[in-house]
Amino acid sequence: MSALSELYEEIARCQKCELARCRNRAVPGEGAEDADIMFIGEAPGWHEDQQGRPFVGPAGQFLDELLALIGLKRQQVYIANVIKCRPEANRDPLPQEILNCRQWLERQIELIHPRIIVTLGRYSMALFFPGKTISKVHGTAEKRDGTVYYAMYHPAAALHQQSLREVVKADMLKIPALLEEIDAVPAAKQGPEAKQLNMFEV
Ligand code: SF4
Repeated sequence: MSALSELYEEIARCQKCELARCRNRAVPGEGAEDADIMFIGEAPGWHEDQQGRPFVGPAGQFLDELLALIGLKRQQVYIANVIKCRPEANRDPLPQEILNCRQWLERQIELIHPRIIVTLGRYSMALFFPGKTISKVHGTAEKRDGTVYYAMYHPAAALHQQSLREVVKADMLKIPALLEEIDAVPAAKQGPEAKQLNMFEV
């Protein structure tokens, strides 16, 4: 059994917050264990909770379309969420739930070791671009400690707001060039500001 599969089993047993009581299935994540690109969304919805897989509802279908725009299938990337269990009635995740769950996300990132982490939506963005707003930061990248962080709107936002559809597509289309130019992305500033930018120091 791979380290990632062992991690999935640990997540399935996790009882760290109330969400464990109402989930049908935990949704740890899925995709290539050696993926260059890791997409991180918000939380499982109804479809994901039923199937135990991330991004399988309408937003997932749109994500598949977005991946196809850059010639990728979901099996070639890694897809996860900030929290692994569905909040009741698809409410927003609570800060404490995000805090409880982030150990799992940290371990996933360590195991996948992606070249690019793409944040989907504001909750994921808040972990990796603290203090920023999604309307300003989407479509931009920062390189820290050898990993590039790239912010996008959540695909579900584009389903609810048609005007975002083309924005999300345009942001996805920048990813291949980002991969090519990954070594040219300027590193984050050093010193206290760099510390503030560190991934989980929010
Ligand atoms: S949301 Fe995360 S921390 Fe809470 S029970 Fe599920 S796996 Fe555990």
